[in-house]
Amino acid sequence: MTKLWPLICDNRRYSIRDGNACLFWKDQWCEGNSFLELNFNPNNILVSAYAIVKMLSKENEEWNIPLLQNILPPTILSSILAVPHPEMSLGSGIMIWNGEDSGRFSIKSAYAILANEKAWVSPIPWSIIWKWKGPENYKFHFWKASHDRLLTNGRKISWGLRNPDCPFCPGIEETTLHVLRGCPRASQIWNRILFLSEKDIVFNMDLFSWLRKSIERDWGWIQRGYWLTFFLTTLYFLWLWRNKTVGEEDFVYPVNHYVILLKKMHEI
Ligand SMILES: [Zn+2]
Repeated sequence: MTKLWPLICDNRRYSIRDGNACLFWKDQWCEGNSFLELNFNPNNILVSAYAIVKMLSKENEEWNIPLLQNILPPTILSSILAVPHPEMSLGSGIMIWNGEDSGRFSIKSAYAILANEKAWVSPIPWSIIWKWKGPENYKFHFWKASHDRLLTNGRKISWGLRNPDCPFCPGIEETTLHVLRGCPRASQIWNRILFLSEKDIVFNMDLFSWLRKSIERDWGWIQRGYWLTFFLTTLYFLWLWRNKTVGEEDFVYPVNHYVILLKKMHEI
């Protein structure tokens, strides 16, 4: 067990739920990563080293964006806002184990990781995508997203574009993960589809792990056999509608986008 301990620490993440049990800087609650600790500045008196995540949200349970902007660079802010804000009604935060789809720890999976350290970062099972009987451009879009090649404003900044912000969220950098999962237009959909125990797992995954897991297994209450179609369709349209918003003056973002996506799924 002593041998396993460092490995356990590296492979556990937190789902913040009410945000009371999770340490903002030290616990791995954002994209399953510990990069927040690297951004901690001991001279910053606003948020102490042992602050809990809840302290970074407002009374009405939204993220406290001005405070977050004060203590973190925009790229990281975007990662944080991809995680749903703390909510009292969800109860205490829980620990998620990377080694099992269920997120529950097991000794067996810990030894499996120990035996082959990289087993859980397996590549995306591309054969599933290529065999899927749907539009080729949906597949290509997924491929681009998984290689972080979407031309988001965050990416275009290296080409001289001044403003990296999401067209819908001023002050928040537009990354691939933001467009496809964190932006309210996207998160509304995942929030409606996923069960609470799945949200615990999905919302703090990094981009690649989330895309891979979503191909490997079904999530949410989507009708059996339709998950992959729903997932690829949703990723495709989130990006298409975002591009139309930016590029077409008379385009109106669909209010009932969730219903449209379910319809599109059945049309394939
Ligand atoms: Zn946004």
